[in-house]
Amino acid sequence: MTQEELFKKLVAHSKEYGFIFQSSEIYDGLAAVYDYGQMGVELKNNLKRYWWESMVRLHQNIVGIDASIFMHPRTWEASGHVGAFNDPLIDNKDSKKRYRADVLIEEHAAKIDDKIDKEVEKARKRFGEAFDETQFRSTNARVLELQTRRDSVIERMNAALNASDFDALRQVIIDEEIADPVSGTRNWTEVRQFNLMFDTRIGAAADGASTIYLRPETAQGIFVNFLNVQKTGRMKIPFGIAQIGKAFRNEIVARQFIFRMREFEQMEMQFFVQPGSEMEWYEAWRTARMKWHRALGFGDGNYRFHEHEKLAHYANAACDIEYKFPFGFKEVEGIHSRTDFDLGQHEKFSGRKMRYHDPETGESYIPYVVETSIGVDRMVLQVLSAAYREEALDNGEERVVMAIPPALAPVKVAVLPLVKKDGLPEIAQEIVRTLRYDYALQYDEKDSIGKRYRRQDAIGTPLCVTVDHQTAEDGTVTVRYRDTMSQSRVPIAELHTLVGRETGMRGLLEKQM
Ligand code: ATP
Repeated sequence: MTQEELFKKLVAHSKEYGFIFQSSEIYDGLAAVYDYGQMGVELKNNLKRYWWESMVRLHQNIVGIDASIFMHPRTWEASGHVGAFNDPLIDNKDSKKRYRADVLIEEHAAKIDDKIDKEVEKARKRFGEAFDETQFRSTNARVLELQTRRDSVIERMNAALNASDFDALRQVIIDEEIADPVSGTRNWTEVRQFNLMFDTRIGAAADGASTIYLRPETAQGIFVNFLNVQKTGRMKIPFGIAQIGKAFRNEIVARQFIFRMREFEQMEMQFFVQPGSEMEWYEAWRTARMKWHRALGFGDGNYRFHEHEKLAHYANAACDIEYKFPFGFKEVEGIHSRTDFDLGQHEKFSGRKMRYHDPETGESYIPYVVETSIGVDRMVLQVLSAAYREEALDNGEERVVMAIPPALAPVKVAVLPLVKKDGLPEIAQEIVRTLRYDYALQYDEKDSIGKRYRRQDAIGTPLCVTVDHQTAEDGTVTVRYRDTMSQSRVPIAELHTLVGRETGMRGLLEKQM
């Protein structure tokens, strides 16, 4: 199965089992907008809890807020979004498809990277044991030629973006003979600027109303509340403010399912530090955030850092954590050292002091900020793509199993009476009553036990509890484990503890500390 086929299957599976639906599907959908179904919402809530507890509960110096989506329009002038939150877009005249010029170039550079990797793999096979990859990469003429070309493409792109020189950006596409993946032609329009913010009007009367924006990031809600939280919470620097909430971007290119949405959810934490200490904290948060991802157990090799070569106007250091999706390594989280840019701008635009008064030294200053910013929906996609597997069983059948980390699984345990008679449903219902206050569970008595196991595998339920005739005699049940399909007999009295141990958040949280 190719990665593309795998991805298609994953999208179909997500719909079939109630994880993700296209928004307004009965009207043929709305591009890049999705709804979470009965399973998706549970998974998403568990992910949010994993992040919130890791950030807020486990750090004495981080607190949460929930700011509004609407903010005073001056906010977005101060933050630079009105002037500079633009994407450079380009159209292909034959296919009429629209692209982000920088994304076209980056994908082209990634193809050159792939060529380099292929050369390396070929040589590895040829040289066998004696192969020295570092030496090969630094001396092989073909690899060096490709590398130089790739670096020059990226360098030219960054220079053009930094200078907002769209002719130069277009010239990279022309010089590199980048073709439209749809039409295959190189018939490109000019590059134009496109602001990503959605606007709307506030107030009833059309003439008295003014334009406001749907927030394109949650961060500004934290910055404008910085002093409210600091003073009322008596927070001492260094401290952080965390928030989970919706953000909106009028993305030009809407592709790859929930990877790039127009309405999505972010989990952001702004960490306020003393000027001069920001690099230390930037490093610390990079490490901490990578650990958080890796604790999920999807394979350390499937993550990497991508250092930003082009820094945003507010940053003095930035990187992304990328995960290897079926369509390649892509950003799931950004870690940015945002300097005092945002608070400084708000001080300027609002005329209010945005300073921290250090009670020990008596100093007042605008703190520096290190931000961690992660997309909930991209995390959902990460979990779904890592979890999906098709397995051939010993009896010749196949099963699709979602190996979702138990702490994130939408349903923790399924309670299944073997047959619909002989008092077994009653015992099963009694078990449901003891577990339901603490664990998301399903009761299912329909169809053969094999079919019921398959249904639970398909939504990623880590544990199935089967009530059979022996249960009526000795008070034990069969517990079946999703990943291994192994079974063991357990007294009903021990079930509550077992489900907690196997599916609780605690183990995951301890791993990422
Ligand atoms: P990209 O380069 O992919 O457009 P970005 O660098 O603009 O992303 P940030 O502004 O750093 O993204 O936003 C932080 C996080 O928010 C991203 O790492 C991502 O997980 C999430 N995110 C951003 N845009 C979207 C979107 N359109 N749909 C879903 N998640 C998004």
